[in-house]
Amino acid sequence: MLIVQKFGGTSVGDLDRIQNVANRVSATKKAGNDVVVVVSAMSGETNKLVRYAEHFSANPSRAEMDMLLSSGERVTASLLSIALNEMGFDAVAMTGRKAGIVTDGHHTKARIEDINPEVMNAAVKEGKIIVVAGFQGVNENGDVTTLGRGGSDLSAVAIAGAIKADLCEIYTDVSGIFTTDPRIEPKAKKLNQISYDEMLELASLGAKVLQNRSVELAKKLNVNLVTRTSFSDEEGTLITKEENIMEAPLVSGIALDKNQARISLMGVKDRPGIASDIFTKLSDSDVNIDMIIQNKAHDGTTNIDFTVPVGDLNDAKNIVDAFVASGDIEADSYNEKICKVSVVGVGMKSHSGVAAKAFSTMAKENININMISTSEIKISMAIDEEYAELAVRSLHNAYELDK
Ligand code: ADP
Ligand code: ASP
Ligand code: MG
Repeated sequence: MLIVQKFGGTSVGDLDRIQNVANRVSATKKAGNDVVVVVSAMSGETNKLVRYAEHFSANPSRAEMDMLLSSGERVTASLLSIALNEMGFDAVAMTGRKAGIVTDGHHTKARIEDINPEVMNAAVKEGKIIVVAGFQGVNENGDVTTLGRGGSDLSAVAIAGAIKADLCEIYTDVSGIFTTDPRIEPKAKKLNQISYDEMLELASLGAKVLQNRSVELAKKLNVNLVTRTSFSDEEGTLITKEENIMEAPLVSGIALDKNQARISLMGVKDRPGIASDIFTKLSDSDVNIDMIIQNKAHDGTTNIDFTVPVGDLNDAKNIVDAFVASGDIEADSYNEKICKVSVVGVGMKSHSGVAAKAFSTMAKENININMISTSEIKISMAIDEEYAELAVRSLHNAYELDK
């Protein structure tokens, strides 16, 4: 088999763990497989580099940030390759550029446009173990780009698709995908399987165990994706097509996203096209909007509230402030102390009452729901951040996910 194995930050968190990864890769190779490894930076490393940059500037150039942040993954790729060489394997470390990963020019959140797998394919053919530095590529000008936080998952899936790997294993610090973050609810249960669509919702709604774009791409390219732990041989979770799953539960999991902020616009001129003007400007600046509510108009004005990821808040503020300055909006305010809890499950498509149970669970705990959004397979609620963990545990219990 041709296997892509991706090791996250904690799996390569210190030198002993890198040796542990080398042992695992060597065992896979010795069993007769071809292996392409993708690594993250050592845990904490990327955050440390961000802090270093912030020491000098509150608003560093994104291109310079990419030069800086991409270095973390290169350290682990080369160390792992050196360890494998020492064990007698023919291993070679590659940057994203060498691995043929071409992205667009959106520094710090670049999208992969193309992968030229020739160099990787040739090395695999020669029996080499390739160790690719994750999270990075190169734009058409040859500048280094990075793929957004958690982006090594995306590197792994994209490479698995490009070299037509039989399997893509994501090694992390938990043994698979759980019914909710096991750090919040220790009673969470590991799922043997989950559909791409449910995983995509969970990942997009805050479950950082897989980066959401990696799940989207795995679905598109039909990559066999498994999440498991590098600390034991326990079997992980298979992420697969919905039709492959025998009996889908009503609700598969609960996700929590604490990195949300609410923007309230007061006295918005109630005229056709105003929402379009505001939200087009926001989307042109790559601000990701999620929940939106608009109140009934009064005296020719209305109020609009919406949520954005905290990381997009500054960009959003600048845009909204310009509308205030021009008089289209009377005033705006911001609240970073909110979070979003979500209930996800394909079973919702065919069953009613799932949303009602979510709302009554919040009511029982006396938690006020600020905003609601739904899709075919999820219900999301914005609530005060102080109730985040309580809400997750209560919902987990209400849908009997620990059973
Ligand atoms: P890595 O560094 O290996 O990429 P991450 O920290 O990005 O690992 O993701 C793993 C973490 O995701 C786990 O430690 C866990 O706390 C968190 N997590 C959130 N939701 C879930 C879930 N539903 N199942 C498993 N882990 C989850
Ligand atoms: N090192 C990067 C990050 O911390 C990418 C990754 O780990 O996937 O976001
Ligand atoms: Mg991760």
